[in-house]
Order: sequence, then structure tokens, then C-alpha cells
Amino acid sequence: MIAAMDVQVTKTGKSKIGEVDFNNLPFGKYFTDHMLEVDYADGEWKTVSIRPYQNLSLSPALAAIHYGQAIFEGVKAYKDREGNPFIFRPLDNFKRFNLSAERMRMPVVPEEIFMEGMRQLVSLDKDWIPMKNDYSLYIRPFMFATDEVIGVKPADTYKFMILLSPTGPYYSAPMRIYVEEHYTRAAPGGIGFVKAAGNYGSSMLATALAKEKGYDQVLWTDPFEHKYVQEIGTMNVFFVIGDKVITPDLAAGMILEGVTRDSAIEVLKEMGYTVEERPITIDEIINAHKAGELKELFGTGTAATVSMIEELRYKDYTMKFDTATWKAVPAVKKMLTDIREGRKEDTRGWMFKI
Ligand SMILES: *Cc1c(COP(=O)(O)O)cnc(C)c1O
Repeated sequence: MIAAMDVQVTKTGKSKIGEVDFNNLPFGKYFTDHMLEVDYADGEWKTVSIRPYQNLSLSPALAAIHYGQAIFEGVKAYKDREGNPFIFRPLDNFKRFNLSAERMRMPVVPEEIFMEGMRQLVSLDKDWIPMKNDYSLYIRPFMFATDEVIGVKPADTYKFMILLSPTGPYYSAPMRIYVEEHYTRAAPGGIGFVKAAGNYGSSMLATALAKEKGYDQVLWTDPFEHKYVQEIGTMNVFFVIGDKVITPDLAAGMILEGVTRDSAIEVLKEMGYTVEERPITIDEIINAHKAGELKELFGTGTAATVSMIEELRYKDYTMKFDTATWKAVPAVKKMLTDIREGRKEDTRGWMFKI
């Protein structure tokens, strides 16, 4: 049970909800009426406040901007058929958030602040949770260093915040993916397994170059030989080869342990698929393709849920797929959407009632 927590709530005088076109929701562009904010200083978390969404006033010497102590999470809230609001697996995001905090030498956020704070904020702005298929309210918890000193050291002060953003389908079209062989996202001992802002900063160039070639995202490979595949931009990756589903394992600590990845594995197993978590090389993928055994491939992530990959390019070898004939990916996507939108029973306690 989460202890009762004092939250200082200041409600907006006028909701902005009428100004947002819910039929056209570019990802992460619109924010709800309120935000949550709490500061860490003197070794403790101060009073949690929920107040109208607004700009912050920050020092140009802010430590996070200079040295990158900044982490985040991505969570989603849905409504069931009766309109009751739920959050999907927020406790898993809470645990991962603190794993990120520890790796980045930042203070952990107490469970009651993260969970109860999120619950109260989403509850206050619940009218912003769209009820349409594939739509949801994206929840963005994040923390950054707020020391006002340009000296390299773990900061003494931090800010934890939560923003909410109504969202529609993220990548509606199947993706075209470029296998990256020059740039590296993560290496052993690095920060690839945590949700640190810097992982994204370092990925922008490779992604931009892939876009110039006509691709949506890169598929990262290992830092030594560029032979083992890791993950895609903001998603974990799965390959249906023959009658098995294969996804890179987490052992090397270089890929993000996605909550959607875990959900997809569970659902695939329940549907009778054999799922293997193990190292997988680009050669194995190409050989499977040449043998006609590479059936389906997809990415998983909170923002995009489950996204089909219709084209995979490695050097000059292009693999194209007719996604209209696929079975596994639409089935996983439907199962997850049905659980999240309350059409299928939640047997695993994934839906956190608000
Ligand atoms: C967030 C993220 C994912 C997906 O994780 P989910 O918990 O499923 O949202 C995958 N890869 C990276 C690099 C990420 O940042």
C-alpha cells in the first residue's frame, strides 16, 4: 500500500482541453492542464506540487544542461469500455526509473511520490485520456540535475516532474529500418540499459542519416563487430523466424528492458509461440530471409506499442515484406490493445486502476 502523501494542488482556472483537436494528435505536442513537480535538496524530497502546466525558470548554469544528469520514463493511461481510467504497468516504470537514477548517480524517487503523484495527476486530468482505439494519454516522468554550478560532479539538487500528453497512434505506417554499422548506441558498462536523455542525444546523427536515405529508424548493432543486433531507436526488436520468435537478450546490459517487450513476450507465449531471448546476428537474419524463414519483424515500445517493419536494409541487401499477410504481429498488437483498453481480461495485474 502507498502511504497517504501531502500534495499541494493548484488547479487551473480555465482548461485548455477545448483548444486541442483530438483527431489530430502529433506525438508529444500537446500537454494537459496540470503538471507535477517536486524538488530534491538537502538530501530529501520536498513537498510535491501539482500546478497548471507552465514554463520553468532555470539557471543557464543548470547542471543537467551541461553534464547530462537527466533521465525519463514513458507510461500510458487508457480508459476501459466504461470510461474508467487505468495506467499500464506503472510499477515497472517506477522500478526502471530508479535503476536509471542509480546508474546516473541521481537520488532515487520514493514509490509514493512516483506512483501516488502520477495517480493524482492523471486523476485530475482524466478527461484528457482519449477513448478512441489506439489513442491514450502518454505520461512522461523525468528528473534532472538542478545545481547552478559549472563544475563536474554529481549534483546535490534535482527536480522530478511528470507531464501528460494525449496521443494517437505513433507510427501508423509500417517502418523501414536501416541496420547501423558505423555509429554505436551502447557498449558494455555504459548506459544503454537505462532511460537516460544522453542515449538519445548520441543517437540523433545516425537516425538523421538513415532518414536521409529514406529510412525511419536505425537498428543498432554491437559496438565491436556490428554483427549482433540490439534495438531500434525507441523500441526493442523481435524476429519471427520459422515458428519461433527471437529477441535480443538483456545479458550484455546494452539494451533497454522494455515493459512492452516483456508484455509482448508474455502474450506471445500465451498464444503458443516459442520465444527465445538470445544474441542474434545480422547474418542469421539474412540467412533466414534467403531461406524464406524470416516471416515477420517488429518493434515494441510504450510510445508506438507494436510496430511492423516492412523493410530492413543491411549494406546493399534489402529485405521487403508484405505485412498484409502477417499473423503474429497483428495478434500481439490486438491482444495488448485489448488488455489495455479493457476488452480482454487483465489476468496479470498489468492495469493499475486510478
Ligand atoms: C523506452 C525505450 C524502449 C521501450 O521501452 P518500453 O518500456 O516498452 O516503453 C526501448 N528502447 C529504448 C532505447 C527506449 O528508450
